[in-house]
Amino acid sequence: MLSISPTISKFSNLSDLHHLNRGRYSRHSLSHLVPPPPSTHIRNTKTLRLRHNFRISAIDAAQPFDYESKISDHIAKSKTLKIAIVGFGNFGQFLAKTLVRQGHTVLAHSRTDYSAAAAEIGVSFYSNADDICEEHPEVILLCTSILSTDKVLRSLPLQRLKRSTLFVDVLSVKEFAKDLFLQILPLDFDILCTHPMFGPESGKNSWKDLPFVYDKVRIGRDESRVSRCEKFLDSFAREGCIMKEMTCAEHDQHAAESQFITHTVGRILEKLDLDSTPINTKGYERLLDLVENTSSDSFELYYGLFMYNKNAMEQLERLDLAFESLKKELFGHLHEVLRKQLFGTKERSLGLLQEPRALSKLPPNGNGSSLPSPPQSDSTN
Ligand code: NAP
Repeated sequence: MLSISPTISKFSNLSDLHHLNRGRYSRHSLSHLVPPPPSTHIRNTKTLRLRHNFRISAIDAAQPFDYESKISDHIAKSKTLKIAIVGFGNFGQFLAKTLVRQGHTVLAHSRTDYSAAAAEIGVSFYSNADDICEEHPEVILLCTSILSTDKVLRSLPLQRLKRSTLFVDVLSVKEFAKDLFLQILPLDFDILCTHPMFGPESGKNSWKDLPFVYDKVRIGRDESRVSRCEKFLDSFAREGCIMKEMTCAEHDQHAAESQFITHTVGRILEKLDLDSTPINTKGYERLLDLVENTSSDSFELYYGLFMYNKNAMEQLERLDLAFESLKKELFGHLHEVLRKQLFGTKERSLGLLQEPRALSKLPPNGNGSSLPSPPQSDSTN
């Protein structure tokens, strides 16, 4: 038998020896566990041999059984969620690609069978709503059209889900989604209303610096519920989105003034069938981009922006008024120029000018307050 040196006795405990044999950590462990060498020659030799053995047995790469490996696995898993996307159309698939890349487990369910498209991006597709709910996802991410959300939500077998499930929506109108969730979902479920202010066109290359609006409508105080919500939000934050927390009402006010106007102008221009020309200005290029961006969204989406945002009608009327006012401004100027050409300034200054017949069909000048006043011929100074 070998006499046990202090060095050996230090590691005679099996778990310590096992610890030493664990890859990268073993070398650090050696430095603080190995005591000064014993005085005798024999002991020195044995200790050296032992150290030598340790050096050989250490593998300088993380092993699956490593503490380090296990910890990093645990950290990666703790950042990921099991997310079920309901409504796997244009936008649902667009979001799924990034969520899968981030390591989340993504499931999907939709009216249409998207099994092939789902398999291509690493998503498990369930045609049956019961089946996907029985998978007990931590998050249900509703990506259905605005118009169908009520029906889809009511048709989900909520009793098959875990009672603490987090419901998230991405509808482009927020007060409607919030009211629907509060009305239909039992109190046990958490609710997060969100709106990524980008889509498959504007976010195709990156989500960096693109706004993401959210409202934590109902998140339980429990630590696990709070952290699940944060984990979900982090999926967008880590892509570089500008995270904006605001109420659903605030969102709808801003969105009607910005998004609804953008979509409306894009759709008006689309009706003009604009073509690219050999002399496109930068501004015109942007208009063509706008047409492309808005026309790639379904009409149902646009109609939803109008129907389910109470501020949209006012914006549509303002747009109409603005267009009328602009036309009147232009025609008012034209009117003035033609009068001058036809009758000269003399008659005008004598107040003898009559309405020329050719101009009688022009629209009236409205209240005239938005028009610049005609140049004054006499100085009043
Ligand atoms: P969409 O036309 O608004 O919605 C299409 C989705 O709704 C598909 O998953 C479709 O399922 C489902 N759907 C439509 N009618 C249905 C019905 N009667 N029953 C069941 N499911 C029905 O187009 P989208 O672009 O994919 O938008 C989805 C959601 O994301 C909308 O709420 C939209 O406001 C929001 N959003 C879109 C964008 C964007 O840029 N596109 C950006 C931010 C937020 P099937 O395909 O299975 O028929």
